[in-house]
Amino acid sequence: MSVSSEAEETAETLEATAEVFAMDTYISLKAYGSRGEEALDAVSTMISDLDARLSVTDTSSEIYAINAAAGTPVTVSDTTISLIQRSVEFGSTVSGALDITIYPISRTWGFTTGVYQVPTAESIVELLQYVNDDAVVVDAEASTVLVPENTEVDLGAVVKGYAGDQAVEILKEYGVTSALLNLGGSTIRALGAKPDGSSWRIAIQDPNDESGATYAGVLTVTDCAIDTSGGYERYFEEDGVTYWHIIDPSTGYPAKSGLISVTILSADSFSGDCLSTACFVMGLEDTISYWRTYGDFEFVLITEENVIYVSEGAEELFTPVNDFENAELIVVPYEE
Ligand code: AMP
Ligand code: MG
Repeated sequence: MSVSSEAEETAETLEATAEVFAMDTYISLKAYGSRGEEALDAVSTMISDLDARLSVTDTSSEIYAINAAAGTPVTVSDTTISLIQRSVEFGSTVSGALDITIYPISRTWGFTTGVYQVPTAESIVELLQYVNDDAVVVDAEASTVLVPENTEVDLGAVVKGYAGDQAVEILKEYGVTSALLNLGGSTIRALGAKPDGSSWRIAIQDPNDESGATYAGVLTVTDCAIDTSGGYERYFEEDGVTYWHIIDPSTGYPAKSGLISVTILSADSFSGDCLSTACFVMGLEDTISYWRTYGDFEFVLITEENVIYVSEGAEELFTPVNDFENAELIVVPYEE
């Protein structure tokens, strides 16, 4: 091996890592190559900026301003305009299973503050009338967003996915071709392959293990967005009932669709993040028919009976592990 190719190899396999706490979670970033560190600095800055702009609880964020001014248009950045538009558009393709105006409901359950309570049925009915993303008025030309009084938006279901896409753009600008971005475990972006050319191995958390320490399976992928939604991510228990943070906008109660974990594999993580939340709400049958209609993604679904449903295109990528090694696994074909 000549000296120069050895030097090249060293540059390519040079690993840079960064940790950011943002979007209410730990984000860990890994990039390879000579400009990896610079690239991760830029990604970390972008993530913190995005969080500051889009956080629903930060009183200086654009989202907070929109909600606080309900009834009056608020001038916001193009990023916020575009994210709200894209989220509402996606919501209409899933019959409202994803609705960014769910916030008054999630707040009354305490999912945003950690001060949990089971609200009265009356208060849920009362608040549900304000859950309607069609009522959000986005004026792209004037760069304003208006929500009706008592309506509030929250991009918590989509922001990590969006950040993953932005991060990949930045990495590419720096010439990075191999990276792994883990945004709190629920959004993972694999860019390219590992520096040695092998695939990334991405674990799917065991939804039954509260500690988060064990896995249900492993996905072996290159260049892929992997988004997971699970009830185990945030929940509380009262009188023996578990209530989790993903809400069915048609009822105002935590979504009990029969699925306890939804993993989406897609080319971009914004779509994956939208889909994982929406499919968790829609359940098995609607997820399969959505997938057959729209395609463009693959899935691994785990039901409350611990049956795994894997879409045809994900079958070869997925290996169940631990408690799921002997679980029933059903491959869902493209054609009915
Ligand atoms: P994710 O972890 O991506 O599935 O997003 C869950 C987060 O999105 C929750 O913590 C809430 O902030 C918000 N959320 C919960 N249910 C919905 C829903 N049906 N549509 C939109 N956002 C939701
Ligand atoms: Mg999501």
